[in-house]
Amino acid sequence: MRKQIAAANWKMNLTIQQGEQLLDAIIAKPHSLSAYQQAVFAVPFPYLAMAQQKIAGKNNVFIAAQNCYSKKSGAYTGETSVEMLQSLGISVVVLGHSERREYFEESNQFLADKVNICLEYNITPIFCCGEPLSIREAGTQNQFVEKQLEESLFHLSAEQVQKIVIAYEPIWAIGTGKTATSAQAQEMHAYLRSVFAGKYGNEVANNISILYGGSVKASNAKEIFSQPDVDGGLVGGASLIADEFVTIINSLK
Ligand code: 13P
Repeated sequence: MRKQIAAANWKMNLTIQQGEQLLDAIIAKPHSLSAYQQAVFAVPFPYLAMAQQKIAGKNNVFIAAQNCYSKKSGAYTGETSVEMLQSLGISVVVLGHSERREYFEESNQFLADKVNICLEYNITPIFCCGEPLSIREAGTQNQFVEKQLEESLFHLSAEQVQKIVIAYEPIWAIGTGKTATSAQAQEMHAYLRSVFAGKYGNEVANNISILYGGSVKASNAKEIFSQPDVDGGLVGGASLIADEFVTIINSLK
């Protein structure tokens, strides 16, 4: 069974005190993670050490960064390297979120460089992809997302690509309350898996976890996660509410 993952993306929200309270509240609530299930919290950089301490000793719970830089070290004021993350014990990084692509102009090529450095340091990228509304309306979403994968990931070996987690986040469903239907999610996830299968073979494709993101909440998580090619979710707004996120964790298959 490939990994099933409930990943929280706090984005640029919460003070550190609020973040601590949220993690305490989530950890205190009953949830059971089996060997192939994970809960991940992508928190702002200044909270990584605090969050890492909070989850110390918890099985299958990980803290992630929301970004990293593509270079090892040096004169890059304001950036954070994977070595810095590694030195904090962080082993997961969200890459290529649509907000980074849109507001910070991150290109597929730049993201390929970030993927490479993460893998070099044994850090798991949660690689985000997804189409804007105009592309969905034109009906060319499959080609659009396939190109994102091709240009950022297809230089990897079969062994490397299996270390990546994919998050499919249709931009029109992010923070809008407008969730893709579970059928739309399944359709795209199955397509993306077939694209990986075409390049790397079925066995590799079946090992890659593909998360869905975009207005996932307690009330729809179970239905979305029950789809055969949906391996959990990357959750924004609902991950900021303890009860919501615990229900989402408990909705993993
Ligand atoms: P929402 O869950 O708030 O729609 O955000 C999704 C997202 O962007 C997660 O990375």
